[in-house]
Amino acid sequence: MSTAESALFRAAVMQSWNAIVITDADLAAGCRVEIANPAFCAMTGYPLEELRGRTLKLLQGPDTDPALIEELRNCLREGRYFEGTTTNYRKDGSPYIVRWNISPIRDDAGTLTHFISVQQDITAYVLAQRENRLLARALDATTDPVLITDAQARIIFANVAFEEATGYTIDEVKGRTPALLRSDEHDEAFYAKLHRVLADGQDFRATFVNRRRDGSLYHAEQSISPICDESGRITHYVSVSKDISDRVDMEQALRHAATRDKLTGLYNRRHGEHLLEEACRRAQKRGGVLSLIVCDIDHFKQINDRFGHPAGDRVLSDVAHILRDSVRSGDAVIRWGGEEFVILLENCALEAAIDLGERVRNRVRAHQDAEVGALTLSLGLAGRAQDESFEQLVARADAALYTAKRSGRDRLSLA
Ligand code: GH3
Ligand code: MG
Ligand code: MG
Repeated sequence: MSTAESALFRAAVMQSWNAIVITDADLAAGCRVEIANPAFCAMTGYPLEELRGRTLKLLQGPDTDPALIEELRNCLREGRYFEGTTTNYRKDGSPYIVRWNISPIRDDAGTLTHFISVQQDITAYVLAQRENRLLARALDATTDPVLITDAQARIIFANVAFEEATGYTIDEVKGRTPALLRSDEHDEAFYAKLHRVLADGQDFRATFVNRRRDGSLYHAEQSISPICDESGRITHYVSVSKDISDRVDMEQALRHAATRDKLTGLYNRRHGEHLLEEACRRAQKRGGVLSLIVCDIDHFKQINDRFGHPAGDRVLSDVAHILRDSVRSGDAVIRWGGEEFVILLENCALEAAIDLGERVRNRVRAHQDAEVGALTLSLGLAGRAQDESFEQLVARADAALYTAKRSGRDRLSLA
């Protein structure tokens, strides 16, 4: 090699960001430092004058891995290449994690003359990795599903809670997009808003209806945040959600319970009045026809008296079932009182309401209870007049029912 070339190589070694140290090959003496570049001096805290002529044992300390050093010695003795990672110590005693290799150098005769070692302080990298592992473990410890995607919305991380909530394993979802959770419960406008908000760098929060792996749906309160790099470019999206299906189910159950009569499953009086009021408001506004039937089981008290309360309850349920089964799905059947029911028929003219009333009366009449036998129903029917309140309408239908009772029961009277 020419002098010019050696000067170039020397310059390259001295300028390298990696720490480079060259020792002699005198294993008995512990291999003494001949050359160390500025990066090596900076990493170890030793100036070159202090290193020259000394062995690198001076970098070892309590956390230096003895087994690895033993392996290193074997490699050097046999003139083999070595590579490893351990903890070393700077001049000031502070530890750092080093990844290094050692290459044996031979002269033309094949005799070992030197060892060249290239080293890197990887402390920050190892700590970041440990921190990452710690964070991933922390995310796994939370009961809320967490999902991280790259900028193209490809999933790169999902925690254990996500796996539990969706039934998908991380390996199944990695590389796919969260669209795999989509249900048909949201329209395109919902997703368009999501994309708009995220593209603006804002958090998007909403209650999502997601689809699990098995096809079932669950409600999740979800917050999706874009994560930006130093230049403000979106690099990732983080989604944290809370499975609120239990809460939604409970709310639905409560709402159902609040509007229903326990024995018959029909609407209760309180909710019924609300429905009547709304229906009257709609009819008033749009001029639609509204018919109302009030009906009452005949001589029901006797059923209770002769066969007992449970038999009476059974008959009430059966009649409720007949009523429910006789009307259109949009019509409301309300348990108005003990053995008294109201049927609300929206957009139903009087003639059709009469037909329905008669059908109901005949079906109740035809019903045979194994214990109680036959029973009958009396009905009062009224069509809503202009400007009439629901109370007035009910009162007129009630009056018609009274007429039906007085005229011998088992009949329908018109208001
Ligand atoms: P009418 O033909 O004039 O209607 O006579 P009725 O015996 O049917 O009417 P009445 O109002 O005298 O009696 C109604 C009875 O209904 C009295 C009450 O004890 C009974 N009742 C009210 N609610 C329930 C219930 O939830 N279960 C049972 N088994 N009976 C009830
Ligand atoms: Mg009665
Ligand atoms: Mg009654």
